[in-house]
Amino acid sequence: KKFSDAGLHPVMAKNVELAGYTYPTPIQQFTIPAILHGKDVVGIAQTGSGKTGAYLIPILSKLMGKAKKWAAKRPNPRTFQPGLDDVKAEPLVLIVVPTRELAVQIFNEARKFCYRTMLRPGVVYGGAHTREQMDSLARGCDVLIGTPGRLKDFVLRPHILTLRRLKYIVIDEADEMLGDDWRDELEPVLAGGEQDEGNVKFCLFSATFPKAARELATEYLAASHVRFR
Ligand code: AMP
Repeated sequence: KKFSDAGLHPVMAKNVELAGYTYPTPIQQFTIPAILHGKDVVGIAQTGSGKTGAYLIPILSKLMGKAKKWAAKRPNPRTFQPGLDDVKAEPLVLIVVPTRELAVQIFNEARKFCYRTMLRPGVVYGGAHTREQMDSLARGCDVLIGTPGRLKDFVLRPHILTLRRLKYIVIDEADEMLGDDWRDELEPVLAGGEQDEGNVKFCLFSATFPKAARELATEYLAASHVRFR
């Protein structure tokens, strides 16, 4: 099956073509229809399998139809004054990843797929000054990619980031990120997305499926009666 038969938004179909993709990879063949149909997914996938496209393509495709409406709610970049205007970024998609390198890599993929849309990607990570990241968030961010510590920091500080508009949460490379103490950093972040009355779709990708990842999946997937042992 080709991407052109996948029922993607026409702009996404074009951006996939510009990226040089013709056929979905095996993981994409499963996740694209599932996510387009509004399902939560757990994907066991290695780097190199096309897992980034496996969630970015269907999620961003779903959002493209309404991108203009959401863009209208963002601060005006011409009149916006960083530090003075009391605005919060209100992303629709949150992608949590273990490292800065991966965050930047996914941000670059997201930029390609958001081309010629009103959707704005953004990226935050630790080990860098917060000021620039805060200003870029305040200018508007629909698709936020970040590492857990910096996300927690921004969620808990006032006037920076609110997750009450979230439609999708993606946890990528979960096994690299989730130790026995995964709740410490992730729970304050994930709790922010729960205000939307359980309408937030949840995608979890991991190369292996250890205990902490199974716990997280059991807790946050819509079919919460499913237990991953
Ligand atoms: P990932 O597993 O997400 O790190 O992707 C590995 C590489 O495969 C990246 O360079 C992607 O751009 C590329 N890729 C992902 N999906 C496809 C596809 N359907 N066709 C061709 N290349 C792809």
